[in-house]
Amino acid sequence: MNLVGMPEAMIASSEQSLTPERERREKLELNKLQKRLRREVGQAIADFSMIEAGDKVMCCLSGGKDSYAMLDILLNLQKSAPVSFELIAVNLDQKQPGFPEEVLPEYLSSMGIEYHIIEKDTYSIVKEKVPEGKTTCGLCSRLRRGILYNFAEEHGVTKIALGHHRDDLLETLFLNMFYGGKLKTMPPVLHSDDGRNTVIRPLSYSREKDIARYAALREFPIIPCNLCGSQENLQRQVIKDMFQSWDKQHPGRLETMFRAICNVEPSHLADTSLYDFREGKRLGGKRQAVNTAEPEASADFGRLDVLNI
Ligand code: SF4
Repeated sequence: MNLVGMPEAMIASSEQSLTPERERREKLELNKLQKRLRREVGQAIADFSMIEAGDKVMCCLSGGKDSYAMLDILLNLQKSAPVSFELIAVNLDQKQPGFPEEVLPEYLSSMGIEYHIIEKDTYSIVKEKVPEGKTTCGLCSRLRRGILYNFAEEHGVTKIALGHHRDDLLETLFLNMFYGGKLKTMPPVLHSDDGRNTVIRPLSYSREKDIARYAALREFPIIPCNLCGSQENLQRQVIKDMFQSWDKQHPGRLETMFRAICNVEPSHLADTSLYDFREGKRLGGKRQAVNTAEPEASADFGRLDVLNI
């Protein structure tokens, strides 16, 4: 007997009978989440013309939950998409100490997708160049982007898919406002000025908490993202905490904020390059110095826990 007077055998049998019920519930939850993510990714692809017939899409994988989820949903959508496109997966092994190099090849082989592991010891470069105690993410991100973007060009890739999600976009918006004095974020699609690369973010409409739950249910073999020893960027963490508390206290606020960046009124802001206030006309706006070093926010503000691209 145990403390509440139930024989141990009875407890064991009730736990056994709960297991199939839990499995059933989790399966239902997984199906529901997958449908939602598929719908959101499909919508983002359509709204921003992210993928067209004949595209070769390179999914950049870090081993984090977001990039796994992105690849999984894109593979899923590829089967029923109205247009035919190619998907390849690419990981950059930056030679961080303890990086489990067998994890991604095993996973990707099991998925039957063409994949490439690029090996470049950017870790040593960053350690050598950045003084002790300074954040390493800026240089690390720039090196990573350069390598991946060159690889994409050399392999006829037409779209580079990154796993940033809606919450990343909102966090970057706030970081830019708070610390950069600019109203901008990472866009769902970005064409480099030199025409070499097009970056797409298929998870732009998807919530981080859905992605995290989906990754847990799908049991993706997550690789921890603290191998380089860099601290989570404090400014970003403050914004994340703020969002989490808003999400609890004011459900729907993050959704509304995201709608706001899809619904901009240049005449009701104060940027004279976007709106001619004398004539009352919209203008073309500033030509941003966009290049393959984008997203600058991720470099300036440190690690995006996700893809780290
Ligand atoms: S946290 Fe990511 S971006 Fe920052 S130094 Fe480490 S690997 Fe590079």
